[in-house]
Amino acid sequence: MPRPLTAVIDEAAIAANLALARRRAGPARVFATVKADAYGHRLALALPALAEADGLAVCEVEVALGLAESERSSGRGRPVLLLEGAFEPADLRACARAGVWLVVHSEDQVSMLERARELPPVRVFAKMNSGMNRLGFAPARFAPAVDRLRRSETVASVTCMTHFASADEPEGIDEALAVFEAHAGHPDLPRSLANSAALLRDARTRTGWVRPGLMLYGASPFSGVPAAALGLRPAMRLDSALIAVQDVPAGGRVGYAGTFTAPRPMRVGIAACGYADGYPRHAPTGTPVLVEGVRTVTLGRVSMDMLAVDLAPVPAAAAGARVTLWGGALPIEEVAAAAGTIAYELMCAVAPRVPVRAAAGGEG
Ligand SMILES: *Cc1c(COP(=O)(O)O)cnc(C)c1O
Repeated sequence: MPRPLTAVIDEAAIAANLALARRRAGPARVFATVKADAYGHRLALALPALAEADGLAVCEVEVALGLAESERSSGRGRPVLLLEGAFEPADLRACARAGVWLVVHSEDQVSMLERARELPPVRVFAKMNSGMNRLGFAPARFAPAVDRLRRSETVASVTCMTHFASADEPEGIDEALAVFEAHAGHPDLPRSLANSAALLRDARTRTGWVRPGLMLYGASPFSGVPAAALGLRPAMRLDSALIAVQDVPAGGRVGYAGTFTAPRPMRVGIAACGYADGYPRHAPTGTPVLVEGVRTVTLGRVSMDMLAVDLAPVPAAAAGARVTLWGGALPIEEVAAAAGTIAYELMCAVAPRVPVRAAAGGEG
């Protein structure tokens, strides 16, 4: 029997979430953001569910090239956008030949394009730094950079793009959008502004190409707003089982360093899932978990391959009992909040050693 830990991916949920993104996008076209192996859901499972997307967005050059090749050979020909652009001239050459679209966020990348010779012209997304101070041209340098791109023989078209620092925060996008609008210039060029949070909250960003990621996988970008309230369906369930049960006497300690001490005699279940599987080690005692569908909590430190759970709410649970770390009736956002992180990180961290399978029909 294999180790009883599996990530179960509900492809129908991904398709439904994409349909919702598309309805929200109105006339805008939708890049499905599938970087980081479809946010941990695995590209091979996510892609069929994203058949209705207008394009695919990733960060990894090899993945972009592979996707562009499969889009070409299947005759679908949807664009693939490389979100951090080319890292070196060899990437640019490979991407141009494969028809991959490139984000251009720096003068270095503009120069790389200008110096390239005998390449098919590339479609580029020029990125403005609208306040995040991560990637992008400073606002005052944006329009001149776009001018340079439009003059370059290696550039087929330019879309004006930004990425919001606080689209999922109370402060929202007003300030960043004002910076973008004030400096983008080039009103004749298409725009690409929205991630999931912006798409869901602000109609002004539903233009050109939108770039939802998180919402496709059924998690809410907004703290305190459940995914279900947004009409989203969670696409990942992380399932395991109890592989042992311990009767711990009052005063007994649980796990490495004994950070949890049983205040009374307790039945403690040991689930096969640890930080080497992607479960966050910093999840404290009290992080929610389901045993046989009943909500309970983790106890003590998360180990590399295991974690301990309180069986008080499920006294009949024995070795073999079903454990759900997140998904199903336990929103991933709640686990993330308890662990001091966000759903994005939990999804993306599911380790390569965790087998992933598609949910059977009706299982989601
Ligand atoms: C990851 C990413 C997105 C998708 O963001 P979500 O918050 O997951 O919707 C969109 N645009 C860029 C530039 C990104 O890097």
